[in-house]
Amino acid sequence: MKSLVFKYPGDPPQPAIEMNRAEFLTVCPRHPTRIYSGDTVQEFPMAEDEIWCDQCDEDPGDYVLLIGGTRAMCRKCADEFYLPHCRETS
Ligand SMILES: [Zn+2]
Repeated sequence: MKSLVFKYPGDPPQPAIEMNRAEFLTVCPRHPTRIYSGDTVQEFPMAEDEIWCDQCDEDPGDYVLLIGGTRAMCRKCADEFYLPHCRETS
């Protein structure tokens, strides 16, 4: 894992971490999606290893850039949108 700081101009800095798929699944365990409607709750279980990129919805494969502790980015979106605004923490 590699810790970075993502700082987009005009926005506060956020932690960013480059990790592989196994590391991501450890840091962010999958949990079922719950949909509440009136008094009923429907649960939609997620596969244990399901990951998608928050930017393009593709499966990120074995590279995940975690932004702000909650958002996962694939390599392509990381390269295009995020890594240009990241720097390594000292
Ligand atoms: Zn993506």
